Amino acid sequence: MTEHLLIVGAGQAATQAVHTLRQNGYSGRITIVGGERHPPYQRPPLSKKYLAGELARERLELRPAVWYRERDVTLELGTRAVELEPAARRVRLDDGRIVDYDRLILATGSKARRLAVPGAELAGIHYLRTIDDVDAIAPELVPGRRLVLVGAGYIGLEVASVAVRRGLDVTVLEAADRVMSRVVGPAISAFYERYHRDAGVNIECGTVVSGFVGRERVEAVETSGGLRFACDVVIVGIGVDPDVELARSGGLPCDNGIVVDERGRTADPLIVAAGDCTNHPHPLAASRVRLESVQNAIEQAKAAASNFAGEPHAYAEVPWFWSDQYDLKLQIAGLAEGYDETIVRGDPAQKSFAVYHLRGGELAAVEAVNAPRDFMFARKAIAARISPRADQIADPAFDLAKLLPA
Ligand code: NAP
Repeated sequence: MTEHLLIVGAGQAATQAVHTLRQNGYSGRITIVGGERHPPYQRPPLSKKYLAGELARERLELRPAVWYRERDVTLELGTRAVELEPAARRVRLDDGRIVDYDRLILATGSKARRLAVPGAELAGIHYLRTIDDVDAIAPELVPGRRLVLVGAGYIGLEVASVAVRRGLDVTVLEAADRVMSRVVGPAISAFYERYHRDAGVNIECGTVVSGFVGRERVEAVETSGGLRFACDVVIVGIGVDPDVELARSGGLPCDNGIVVDERGRTADPLIVAAGDCTNHPHPLAASRVRLESVQNAIEQAKAAASNFAGEPHAYAEVPWFWSDQYDLKLQIAGLAEGYDETIVRGDPAQKSFAVYHLRGGELAAVEAVNAPRDFMFARKAIAARISPRADQIADPAFDLAKLLPA
């Protein structure tokens, strides 16, 4: 009998795992179980072009239906796997069905962190993680309405840029003392904060939401500092939590994500995991990391799938991230942790510049705004462990690419 490989989670990592498995000659049956009713789709456009109405829903799909058929993949959508029994090699679905497996890939992703304050259940308060979320939000973004965004991370700021251009009155409330503090350094935060303000967005940092008020729908947001922001719609983007419930139910070690090694292996030899849901070692990080990015899902899924077919390999790619806001493309390469020197290359006033972060003289990360050459250089240089000198970085006339191996 051919073996059965089960993938739980129907996102980017799942689709990549199928691709890698079949490319490497894996011949077992494959089933993907996904909680949403949509086939695997791209999430990055949700808070950008899809929300703006510039991208049709079908264009979000990662692969057409025929792609799964040709690869003998069964999609079980609209059903969640809720219990894992590793000893019996089976999972239970929320509709009561039992699915046996020979090998299992956990690609359960992450879920939007909920804001637990009084009034949080009022109508008009949204989260943005799925197609269905955006389909509920889009008709709410009516010109002239007052929108409050809680959290100035990627979600908050990407939505702000769409909404203010549509003519809404937009306020962003952020608990930290600067925007995008979790993902970029202070120079980029300051630039983006100014850019949003110039576009007409009201940004309040150091502001913690304490509750929502309204009769049936939300009418105002209250803060712990005693401020009150009248509003018609709220979108909360305060981060995500890894979806580890299934792994936990099966007794797999979890610590801010499913604990895996550099090849995506869990404590059970028949189970690997990939994507947002994992906590893993990375050669560029001082300690274990959990990365929330498409690239992480793709590269880790390749490594995880390679345990079951092909040549097993570790996942060690230089992490990268991006965000589109207004006419600005932010691209980040590397992990900006523990840096002790920061050098700006280019001119923020020209809306094209890059911030280089060095740790002990070594290039750790680059945050590039409308500066794709700096981003590309950084990815290659960090991978090759090549670091330009501070004076070379600061001189825009110096061709950094010359430092790379031919
Ligand atoms: P995020 O980027 O982690 O930002 C969340 C922000 O909300 C943080 O700055 C956080 O500050 C703040 N915050 C937390 N609790 C708060 C509170 N009670 N009141 C006000 N602010 C609060 O998360 P996100 O924007 O929600 O995005 C969710 C996920 O989607 C992430 O995985 C993200 O990577 C992904 N995403 C990515 C992109 C992209 O790559 N372009 C675009 C959209 C979404 P503290 O750090 O101080 O807690």
